Amino acid sequence: MQIDEMIAAIQAKLGVQVDGKAGPQTWAAIYAKLVTPKLKAQDPASLISPVDNRSEKAIATLLPQVQPIARALVQKAAASGIQIKIISGLRSYAEQDALYAQGRTAPGNKVTNARGGYSNHNFGIAFDVGVFAGTKYLPESPQYKAVGILGVDLGLEWGGNWKTLVDEPHFQLRPAWANDFAEKDLLAALRDRVAAQQPIYV
Ligand SMILES: [Zn+2]
Repeated sequence: MQIDEMIAAIQAKLGVQVDGKAGPQTWAAIYAKLVTPKLKAQDPASLISPVDNRSEKAIATLLPQVQPIARALVQKAAASGIQIKIISGLRSYAEQDALYAQGRTAPGNKVTNARGGYSNHNFGIAFDVGVFAGTKYLPESPQYKAVGILGVDLGLEWGGNWKTLVDEPHFQLRPAWANDFAEKDLLAALRDRVAAQQPIYV
């Protein structure tokens, strides 16, 4: 099933506006369908088909609620003639600390301003995309903006909309309880939840 068809079908079932653009309510319903034990026993991937292997490797590190949306973004981009792959997902606090050290206490150029626990990537809610031309990765391309619009349509927060430190390859699924949180308050709340072993999405 194509992602747009599926979103429209679920919206019709929910009785919400059928526009093929999934908001939090639609994604919650999609997720509920994906984790229904009966469906799980069959093939949950049949609802949203897997994408390329490299993307699937990164997608596997994300929280289950984010995985179908990441696949949907790859498929929506492809439908618009844009080839993207999900090139990074979860980073542990230790991996984040190692990145932070780069250009500071370790060789190389600075690549991040976030220490462990201070990046959305540390919580399985965020991923980065790469635009590709065939096998060639394009770190800069106007197509990142087009992908950003598609991601926002899917209910994702897009780093290209950030005021400070614009990050066009970055997407994240903000938990509903943090809708009005400033970015630093979101990160603080995420750290607290991890420390308290509470789920990120409730
Ligand atoms: Zn990112």
